[in-house]
Amino acid sequence: MEKRPFVSLEQIQEMAEKFPTPFHLYDEKGIRENARKLHQAFAWNPGFKEYFAVKATPNPFILKILKEEGCGTDCSSATELMLSEGCGFSGKEIMFSSNDTPPEEFAMAHKLGAVINLDDITHIACLEETLGAIPETVSCRFNPGGVYTISNGIMDNPGDAKYGMTEAQLIEAYKILKEKGAKHFGIHAFLVSNTVTNDYYPMLARTLFELAVRVKKETGISAEFINLSGGVGIAYRPEQEPNDILAIGEGVRRVYEEVLVPEGMGDVAICTECGRFMLGPYGCLVTKAIHEKHTYKEYIGVDACAANLMRPAMYGAYHHITVAGKEEAVCDHKYDIVGSLCENNDKFAVDRMLPEIAMGDYLVIHDTGAHGFAMGYNYNGRLRSAELLLKEDGSVELIRRAETPKDYFATFDFCDLLKKY
Ligand SMILES: *Cc1c(COP(=O)(O)O)cnc(C)c1O
Repeated sequence: MEKRPFVSLEQIQEMAEKFPTPFHLYDEKGIRENARKLHQAFAWNPGFKEYFAVKATPNPFILKILKEEGCGTDCSSATELMLSEGCGFSGKEIMFSSNDTPPEEFAMAHKLGAVINLDDITHIACLEETLGAIPETVSCRFNPGGVYTISNGIMDNPGDAKYGMTEAQLIEAYKILKEKGAKHFGIHAFLVSNTVTNDYYPMLARTLFELAVRVKKETGISAEFINLSGGVGIAYRPEQEPNDILAIGEGVRRVYEEVLVPEGMGDVAICTECGRFMLGPYGCLVTKAIHEKHTYKEYIGVDACAANLMRPAMYGAYHHITVAGKEEAVCDHKYDIVGSLCENNDKFAVDRMLPEIAMGDYLVIHDTGAHGFAMGYNYNGRLRSAELLLKEDGSVELIRRAETPKDYFATFDFCDLLKKY
């Protein structure tokens, strides 16, 4: 599918007068429409709840939009819990799916009334010791091990992943939790990341639903909610077919009818913890071409760098790039699009065919709405950019200011050397 930015050159030029590039920009309309579609896809399940994975886009303005659309949050750290609380999420609207959890974060999650999702059987003791008791509602994370294959070659290696418990541990964990007073139980698993197929959730649902049936038979515990977690992907590449969330919801419904309903488990609530799917396509990184370099290759240097978007540098991830205003131009120039870090992996694109780029052109790097800004860092003393929201009425709101040297030096505030900055 042809990939078009949700923002025009004229809009970018207007924004850039007030907010210098680079900046991350989010599309409120796209976020809301997509969230509504997800809810439509699972409307057949009365208990359905999406807990947005805060780590994907930890911005209170984004969280508030999602809250208005009926989402909760999925957290895995103290600051993510704080963000959730600050945005008005409380109690069962918060899922705490962490791993290697510091005990004080269990305490914090519990104080907020969050649903705690245990990554391991050994965490039961830690939880009990920290809270003084086991919460009434608790969930356990499953890892089936081995290799998990879905369709058209998409697979991942849960056997290599640090998350979750084996089936035997999971069953043992439920028994212990019940004995210690837990009353309401959930099952969770996250097996494959960024799946671009409508088959992942239905397949995972089958794995978890069948597991829930076995758990019920062995322990008498009937899971009240089954959490399909994240992993629903987005079409980063133009040749990919985006997921059809309505088909995905329908696929899960069919498995639900087939596996759970006959076992008298037709009241199980489905949960999701989508991050990428909720925000990925509805954010972009806007950056300006500031240098061109002609050596053994043709380079375009932009004012953003991997510190603003780590995915290409970190795992060679593809992010589509559009030269704003040149949407119709032929892509007859081959470029490496690079940032300024003193690291040769700081390349947003390698050997990318694009229209001829002039200095001052704005480049839109697509699909940075999730795991984009959030993975930013300060290497080379680079500062994090601003985040802007393109609102439904077409206006633009600053939803996070750009970092300044003062922010960068803030952890030296006890020392006088850098005071003047
Ligand atoms: C990262 C994460 C998610 C979100 O994953 P996406 O791939 O962004 O959908 C959900 N749940 C847990 C526990 C995670 O760690």
